[in-house]
Amino acid sequence: VTPVPPFRPGYPGDRVPRHVVVVLSGGLDSTTLAYWLASRGAALTLLTVDYGQRHRKEICFARRTAAVLQAAHHVADLSFISPLAGGSALTAPAAEIPDGHYTAESMRATVVPNRNALMLDLAVGLAITVGADAVAFGAHAGDHAIYPDCRPEFLAAYQQMAAVANDGFLPEGFTVTAPFLEASKAAIAGLAARLGVPVTGTWSCYRGGPAHCGTCGTCVERREAFDLAGLDDPTAYAGHPGEVS
Ligand SMILES: [Zn+2]
Repeated sequence: VTPVPPFRPGYPGDRVPRHVVVVLSGGLDSTTLAYWLASRGAALTLLTVDYGQRHRKEICFARRTAAVLQAAHHVADLSFISPLAGGSALTAPAAEIPDGHYTAESMRATVVPNRNALMLDLAVGLAITVGADAVAFGAHAGDHAIYPDCRPEFLAAYQQMAAVANDGFLPEGFTVTAPFLEASKAAIAGLAARLGVPVTGTWSCYRGGPAHCGTCGTCVERREAFDLAGLDDPTAYAGHPGEVS
């Protein structure tokens, strides 16, 4: 396996935001994004959204990251939206979380309709409230296959919408960005290692059990990322809840 080369996260014009609202799920990507922006000298305000996800233990991990980074942290309780979330396996308690590779057709079950627009709407409002000149979220290239709201087309359309919707109210130079948009998950794992992100302080598993299951789409993706990056994965995996108790 050839280790993936180091990558430089993209940021428009390489301009570092003065103050950025980061949509922080508590997972590896958004946590690494927060660490990277902090390392570039940006002030952080963190936003975590409870949308009724069954793996809401990720929110505890987000809280810990906020404490470590000494950043303001808002947790928005939108758990009431789960009946509106189209029966996504992430929010419907009766639905099965599929095993397998993240890019597989079966992962369509994990799409929460319109999730990123919903979270970014909150983040843009928060940015205006606190005077932040950027909003950043952790979408990356590996998300594009299944999640339409992680694609470059979505980002471009959302940037335009946010500018029109808040015309005259946005801080100078305001941007909505996804600095990892063209990066692979393996590249993000490599960046996390270089930044010293405490990987065990992040949560990925969609099943939300006591430990990462190791077999759901996002666990498979996480394991693969460390493997491709040539890094030791410090995550403790339990195996499928049906196989290992
Ligand atoms: Zn899992």
